[in-house]
Amino acid sequence: DTEAGSERLGSVISRIDLRGSALDRDLLPRAELDVEAALEKVRPLCDDVRHRGTAAVVEATERFDGVELERLRVPAAALSEALTTLDPAVRAALEESIRRARIVHRDQRRTDTTTHVVPGGTVTERWVPVERVGLYVPGGRAVYPSSVVMNVVPAQEAGVGSLAVSSPPQAEFGNLPHPTILAACALLGVDEVYAAGGAQAVAMFAYGTEECAPVQLVTGPGNIYVAAAKRLLKGVIGIDSEAGPTEIAILADDTADAAHVASDLISQAEHDVVAAAVLVTPSEALAEAVEAELKTQVSATKHRERIAEALAGRQSGIVLVDGLEHGLAVVNAYAAEHLEIQTEDAAHWASRVINAGAVFVGPYAPVSLGDYAAGSNHVLPTGGCACHSSGLSVQSFLRGIHVVDYTKEALADVTHHVVTLAEAEDLPAHGAALKARFDWKVPESGK
Ligand code: NAD
Repeated sequence: DTEAGSERLGSVISRIDLRGSALDRDLLPRAELDVEAALEKVRPLCDDVRHRGTAAVVEATERFDGVELERLRVPAAALSEALTTLDPAVRAALEESIRRARIVHRDQRRTDTTTHVVPGGTVTERWVPVERVGLYVPGGRAVYPSSVVMNVVPAQEAGVGSLAVSSPPQAEFGNLPHPTILAACALLGVDEVYAAGGAQAVAMFAYGTEECAPVQLVTGPGNIYVAAAKRLLKGVIGIDSEAGPTEIAILADDTADAAHVASDLISQAEHDVVAAAVLVTPSEALAEAVEAELKTQVSATKHRERIAEALAGRQSGIVLVDGLEHGLAVVNAYAAEHLEIQTEDAAHWASRVINAGAVFVGPYAPVSLGDYAAGSNHVLPTGGCACHSSGLSVQSFLRGIHVVDYTKEALADVTHHVVTLAEAEDLPAHGAALKARFDWKVPESGK
């Protein structure tokens, strides 16, 4: 980042000065996540699970999680015990998170639509849930009971009949996934839970093992190995977007509170050393104030080392722009997983965002709210994928089946067009399939 006037302050976060320069995506801070390299690493792992099932998952778990397992399926007793011993305040918070997510996702349900194309000819789009899904809940650096909620609620609201959760086992918790993850599963009525993480968990879902029946769709966020396995096994299974290391971008002007902007950047940097935190602003005064805030706030926070590394990484930075219009173009080019708008007339700028996983409008909608309890989903596309993919929703678990229903008369009426197109494509048997239903001759002209 020495081009276009960018300058590293050698301090807490780098600064990239895009003022007066044409928009160039390559100048924006971005993690260099080499999913392709990870693909080579997870390929043999996934093949092994395909051929040897549970034994291969158990071996990979020993290697990557340092945990020796006898079986992967979490016993029902462990799930109910986790719920009984759950801190009541955490239980109340999870219940509120579930309640809000449920009302939002319930509103996302699709109704079938029937189009009367011609008299006697209809096409219905019928929405049908995927039969069986595998939901990945990360549990390496941090544990995410909130991701249980974000995966399970839309699947349940979509009407998925069979769902299984997998999350890495933790040695300190009896070689089971974290107890809060188990409790969240129990709260949601999920009883099929596996103690497996990373690529091996995705392969277990895709190919099935002695213990786990194969699924049709795998969703959920995870690290680079989870993302690589989802990319590799796409086709064997359906996947949601690649929800990798988290990102926050904030478009802010002079009206923003520097302390709040800094704390929001820090909140997402807390996820991972490769998490991205980006501030886009036309205000040099805000940039300086946020830098100063970052310096004081980072050193006072629990995960200061992880956060400092994430902020100092080349995926994070403060981007100076000519004005909010330029800033909007930058955030649209960046396509952040989470985008906060902390400007005057924030709703106006938010309405003009076209690329983002989720947009958080104004000073009282920080990303942390969306992580836990806004009602929105927190499994969102990262790495620029927000320009073509959506976050997890009820829609992720549905398929639209076209149901075609034509009467004899309606078919007869269109047969000449079908025959013409079939012949134009040199596929005369297509036309013959219709002609066979009628005593049909080529009309003299047209119909
Ligand atoms: P994880 O559960 O995704 O990965 C842990 C697993 O990775 C382990 O079980 C292990 O089996 C495997 N693994 C570790 N090292 C390996 C290696 N060298 N080779 C092969 N496999 C290996 O947990 P995590 O690592 O904490 O990552 C969670 C990620 O999910 C974070 O980056 C976080 O930002 C992200 N996240 C994203 C969203 C979103 O919606 N985008 C939401 C929550 C979390």
